[in-house]
Amino acid sequence: MMLKLRQRLYDELNLKKQAADLGISVWQTPSFLFIVMGVIIISAMSGIYIVSTNYDSPEIVVISESLVVILLLTVGNSIIRTVEEVAKSNKMKSEFVSIASHQLKTPISEMKWQIELLLSKFTDGLSEKQLEIISEVSHSGEKMGRLINDLLDVARIDQGQLALINEEMNFCTMVDSAVMAQQSLAKASNVELIVTCNLKKLEVVVDRRRIAVVLDNLITNAIKYTDGKGKVEVIVEEADGFAQFCIRDNGVGIPRNEQSSLCQKFFRSNNSIKNETDGTGLGLYIAKNIVEQSGGKLWFKSIENVGSEFYFSLPLMTDEKKGLGILK
Ligand code: ADP
Repeated sequence: MMLKLRQRLYDELNLKKQAADLGISVWQTPSFLFIVMGVIIISAMSGIYIVSTNYDSPEIVVISESLVVILLLTVGNSIIRTVEEVAKSNKMKSEFVSIASHQLKTPISEMKWQIELLLSKFTDGLSEKQLEIISEVSHSGEKMGRLINDLLDVARIDQGQLALINEEMNFCTMVDSAVMAQQSLAKASNVELIVTCNLKKLEVVVDRRRIAVVLDNLITNAIKYTDGKGKVEVIVEEADGFAQFCIRDNGVGIPRNEQSSLCQKFFRSNNSIKNETDGTGLGLYIAKNIVEQSGGKLWFKSIENVGSEFYFSLPLMTDEKKGLGILK
């Protein structure tokens, strides 16, 4: 707690870092301008006190007070301008990512179809080496496709346009199929993947495709960040009217000092760099936003070199909602 507070205070006062994060100069950072405002207020109060005790003229007091108000309005205006500029450039960046991803999606889908066609109909006469290269190109294309989908989701989240198409579904069935889809990766990574679904009420109202993305991200991470032989457990149970999903691994864990940054966009912990795992740092950010928009929460516990537990909850269907087709 004290450590977090100290870190926050340090971040607040680290004007250089703030300026670099926001892409503005130090004197434009809101913290710097607040300090300036504080100095002006203190000096103004002392000045007005001195003026009012030394000069018995109300005009001088009024003029000095007006000057202070003008100064404060000028600094306040600079703060508003900076915030506006940051918000504007943030919006432009999101729009750029969205347009660029849309434009990239079509040629990559075309490339994927062409490779599939080549591999299904025109392999005669191709050597083993050529086939190997084509399948590597196909693999890279798939990776690019996933990255573009992630970037599109991030742009939608940032623009508040992540529309969910909710429908009633059986949560255990959904979890089973998500786990099934990861079995081959688990096997190849020497990880045992176990699922236990202990829900009595099974129905949740969610966007099937998006919750599948959440399950997929968390299960893949648990396998990916288990170095060598390991075990990943997927447990679903009921907790206070919510379906609670826990995915536990005995992998590399997350360093304590990096845990507070974990669900931030593009953040990758030191463990992923050390273990040279593939990734973008977008999976958890997307998962957290999907879960929160679905009425649930996402959180985790982790100890470095011991393992991690990622949780998320989703509201279960109540009897009143059941059968009434109440969709969010
Ligand atoms: P990616 O896996 O593509 O890097 P994510 O957003 O899914 O991006 O995860 C962000 C970071 O969180 C990862 O780079 C990794 O450092 C850490 N992380 C996520 N899940 C786990 C886990 N189960 N065990 C250890 N570290 C994890």
